[in-house]
Amino acid sequence: MKAIVIGAGIVGLATARALASRGYSVTVIERSRQAAGASVRNFGMIWPVGQPAGPLYATAMRSRAIWKEICTEAGIWHQENGSLHLAYHDDEQAVLEEFFAANHADRPSLALLPKHQVRDKSSVAVLEGLQAALWSSDELIVDPREALLKLPAFLAEKYGITFQFGVAATRVRSGEVHTADGHVHEANTIVICSGQDFETLYPAVLAQSGITRCKLQMMRTQAQPANIGASLCAGLTLTHYKSFATLPSRAALVNRFEKESPEYLRHGIHVLVSQNQAGEITLGDTHEYGLHHDPFDRTDLNQLVLRYLETFCLLPNSEIQESWHGLYAKMPGDHAWFLHHPEPGVTILNGLGGAGMTLSFGMAETCLSPDGTAS
Ligand SMILES: Cc1cc2nc3c(=O)[nH]c(=O)nc-3n(C[C@H](O)[C@H](O)[C@H](O)COP(=O)(O)OP(=O)(O)OC[C@H]3O[C@@H](n4cnc5c(N)ncnc54)[C@H](O)[C@@H]3O)c2cc1C
Repeated sequence: MKAIVIGAGIVGLATARALASRGYSVTVIERSRQAAGASVRNFGMIWPVGQPAGPLYATAMRSRAIWKEICTEAGIWHQENGSLHLAYHDDEQAVLEEFFAANHADRPSLALLPKHQVRDKSSVAVLEGLQAALWSSDELIVDPREALLKLPAFLAEKYGITFQFGVAATRVRSGEVHTADGHVHEANTIVICSGQDFETLYPAVLAQSGITRCKLQMMRTQAQPANIGASLCAGLTLTHYKSFATLPSRAALVNRFEKESPEYLRHGIHVLVSQNQAGEITLGDTHEYGLHHDPFDRTDLNQLVLRYLETFCLLPNSEIQESWHGLYAKMPGDHAWFLHHPEPGVTILNGLGGAGMTLSFGMAETCLSPDGTAS
């Protein structure tokens, strides 16, 4: 049985792996010479703590286990450094305590740390004014630029997956993929993982799904002199992730941000801090939603990110050496992803939003049945 996967971002790679492990002979067709989309532009955070209890947390943990296995086997750098959510206000502390109370029975990885233990986990967390800290040992980081480069070679070697880079799929029908170089490729199963390209394949289906784009601005510092420990975030992050969305205490926190610093909520800013193998810190981000985005980045939004960063993290070297933006595909409402069959034997898998690195490997395992059909 032959399968073609379109797109060599993390969703395409995870899908290709899942199909190959179900016995398919898999070819991945990717427009770029190497992956250059959302999957290389992110923090590299595998972030289960951001997923709500139940199937999504389970999917994130399944992904985490697969990432760990692959990174170990393929020699991809990764660090199981966990995460800290830092609280400097009563309303932030209330959210952390409520989250811990609701989740610690199912997530033994969680702990509320007293202030004096925070330094053991992070050399850069601001301790002055710190009221509470939620530690989670689930989080893992990879360097997405390295991981997305090495994964195809590993998947080719381990599963015999074939990659065609620099080839754009222009048309898909049941059983066949037409590419811009004039070839027609035949396959029993075709899975389209085209990320934020909604205009090339099945544009009408994607338009009807309500899927949209999100633009995120990011920065990277120069290398720090030492390992900073856990990945960090603070109060704004509690307004962002689904795992906190249903907590009653969250409303007071959002109200305060609306009054004190509405510009952060208006631009979807929350600040995450992750360190890569070179010691550099990846920082961000902003969230702007819509089908069209300005190709230029706003310095004022990056300044807001840096200003908020200082409230909870003091880096020895905060000089910014790179900035960029990424675009990801996002479904409306509570949909964690978009899975649709526009024709027999053709599946569209997309729209994992800000959690594609966290969910993709687990999602592909969950969505593909033993015979490789997606549901
Ligand atoms: C700035 C930023 C930070 C993020 N941080 C995190 C994080 O820390 N943790 C986390 O879990 N998630 C994070 N995310 C989300 C995550 O990166 C995305 O959910 C994920 O990368 C989406 O993967 P994808 O494969 O769908 O898209 P992409 O990585 O964009 O890949 C799609 C690929 O399809 C190819 N393609 C499209 N159309 C065609 C065609 N017709 N023919 C051939 N090839 C085609 C494209 O060239 C592209 O390479 C972040 C995203 C961004 C932008």
